[in-house]
Amino acid sequence: MTRSLAKSNAHFKRAVTRLPLGVASNFRYWGEDRTIYVKSGRGARIVDLDDNSYVDYRLGYGPAILGYADPRIDEAAREGMQIGGVFALSTEREFEVAERIAKMVPAAELVRFSNSGTEAVMAGLRLARAYTCKDDYIILEGGYHGLFDAAMWYTPMDSWTQKGDPEIKPYSEGVPLSSRSFAHFVQANDANQLEDVFKRHASRIACMLIEPIMGNCLGIAAEPEYLRLARQLCDKYGVILFIDEVKTGFRVARGGVQELYGVQADLCTFAKAVANGYPISVLAGREKIMRKLGRGVAHGGTYTAHAVSLAAAARCLQILDETDALERIADYGTRLRAGMHALLGARGIAHSFVGHPSMSGLYFAAQPPRNYRDWKSSDYSYYDATARVLHDEGVLCEPDSREPWFVSAAHDASCLSDTLRAFEVAIDTTLKAGVTAHKVPA
Ligand code: PMP
Repeated sequence: MTRSLAKSNAHFKRAVTRLPLGVASNFRYWGEDRTIYVKSGRGARIVDLDDNSYVDYRLGYGPAILGYADPRIDEAAREGMQIGGVFALSTEREFEVAERIAKMVPAAELVRFSNSGTEAVMAGLRLARAYTCKDDYIILEGGYHGLFDAAMWYTPMDSWTQKGDPEIKPYSEGVPLSSRSFAHFVQANDANQLEDVFKRHASRIACMLIEPIMGNCLGIAAEPEYLRLARQLCDKYGVILFIDEVKTGFRVARGGVQELYGVQADLCTFAKAVANGYPISVLAGREKIMRKLGRGVAHGGTYTAHAVSLAAAARCLQILDETDALERIADYGTRLRAGMHALLGARGIAHSFVGHPSMSGLYFAAQPPRNYRDWKSSDYSYYDATARVLHDEGVLCEPDSREPWFVSAAHDASCLSDTLRAFEVAIDTTLKAGVTAHKVPA
């Protein structure tokens, strides 16, 4: 397939005169020549300004769980519009959606809504701090929890000397360095390190913030034993276990990652799959903690629980809860993995899949990574090169291997065959271009 991005490129030149990087979010800028502008999305496919059609595995970073423009959700949203907007007052449906969430996620005894993942996690961290009267928090290397200051730290491995803890740096300029000491970083799946941090700092730690399947780091999964230990340590040391399900929620299981692992959070957040792309997020948790909202802890927002998003959420969650949509999504993901595995295996290319079939990380080494350091120290040039060819061949995955491949209920047999055809072209083109992949040991 020869892909022209002539119209997207021309639009970029116009857009950049009014929008920094020509886009509305830094992550949408893929370079002057490769930034895509979308014309429309339907089901699992999107079409760009140049009429290139793509099977999409980004799904807006996860929200389009039922597929773009799902008629059932859009109909619900239109019905929500009849209510009339936001009133700075509550509407009846908030309770209906909260009831549904509580049914699906046992730890969600009480529920509050926000508009984005960032807002919900930010509110949760504030609540955890208020409830415990402590300020610090544990965060996992490679995790992502949004664009508010407290979540904007990372551990740059490039300068790490393999000894001791890596330095903690802000993702962005403008984050006050004075707040850095509140964050304690741990590696995923290192129980000894986690216990050590609890022993040394628990008297200052309000919560442990964790994505048990790291939706922003290849889908690297916590080992069940690790998550069980985290739960135990939180109980022992009076620390809130805060599970960020912004990506995994209502996707990896009806009750999210908590159901998958059989672990209950004290606080948890949801966003992407709640309303099939209409903006709404959820902070939920144990009653005794959540009751502090409004009793000392601030929470709110002008657009919170907008009637349109709420109506979409009610319908979307009903579908996810009452139909086999999630089973079909996981089944497609499993078949996608099997198809890729056959193509890669036939060429002796070492690989593994990470995370859950509904949000799979593709890793080009036989041994899957256990933590961010494994991914960071791996050679992802083969993935990066393959992804570029996939885009040219009509399959949209994130150019950065850290982002898993998201599957929707609208991915069907034609998507699968188009994807595998493109994947075969992409891996061969990448090999021919001289980008080496690890070989399966003979
Ligand atoms: N938490 C997690 C786990 C996320 O993946 C994201 C976004 N990718 C966020 C929080 C922030 O969500 P938003 O982009 O909606 O603010």
